[in-house]
Amino acid sequence: MPQDPTPAAQHDLAPAGLVHRLEAVQERVRQAAEHAGRPAEDVRLMLASKTQPAPVVRVAVEAGARLLGENKVQELVAKGPDLADLSPTVHLIGHLQSNKVNAALRWAACVQSVDTLDLAERLSRRCEAVDRDLEVMVQVNVSGEESKYGVAPAQATALAAAVATLPRLRLTGLMTIGANSDEETVVRAGFAELGRLRDEVLASGLPGTGSAHELSMGMSGDLELAIAEGATMVRVGSAVFGARPAPV
Ligand SMILES: *Cc1c(COP(=O)(O)O)cnc(C)c1O
Repeated sequence: MPQDPTPAAQHDLAPAGLVHRLEAVQERVRQAAEHAGRPAEDVRLMLASKTQPAPVVRVAVEAGARLLGENKVQELVAKGPDLADLSPTVHLIGHLQSNKVNAALRWAACVQSVDTLDLAERLSRRCEAVDRDLEVMVQVNVSGEESKYGVAPAQATALAAAVATLPRLRLTGLMTIGANSDEETVVRAGFAELGRLRDEVLASGLPGTGSAHELSMGMSGDLELAIAEGATMVRVGSAVFGARPAPV
């Protein structure tokens, strides 16, 4: 196998301006943190790399984006080996079907999309079987939109507490996808709600909940609002990679 797969050729595969757009997003994150009176290092940038081929993702990782989010296990498995030499940290941020748990665990350091106890138990059992730990977040559907996965806000703290007790799982926080709305107040209220739920989980003092400080929320269009409401991780795709091709 050739050791050095001509970086210049790979660079040509990246959409023009990718590194420039990555830097622009890093600057947006920095400024939003500053506006919120928060230290810039309190907010991590995750690249949502769904549908982007491995050589394109590679360019972004080499430019410093070391935290990646994938929506589909299929893509995790396909790109994992191609990026392994760069050792990015990859989280699963899309819905996880129970029959794909084993494959997901081969590449994901964290599953952010845990929204049922059944899924958490499957992850826990599989982690025990392969003798590893796994970070998890509970996905909450703060907007109540039917198209979105996630536990209802009213059930979120109970689910988080139950997940936190499972062997080999480490609850690191909560995740949400913001409301699909042009109204800032609506989007922002959803992010604020996730923050309140996270505070409740932390304040419960229940076993395993003490590490649940993350708020994974905010995307290309609403990351400023999310950071204003306490996001510790924003997940950005199109602002860095450009618009995704329409699904076929
Ligand atoms: C696609 C996606 C993102 C990024 O969305 P953009 O609008 O492209 O920034 C973030 N989180 C999840 C779960 C996604 O599916």
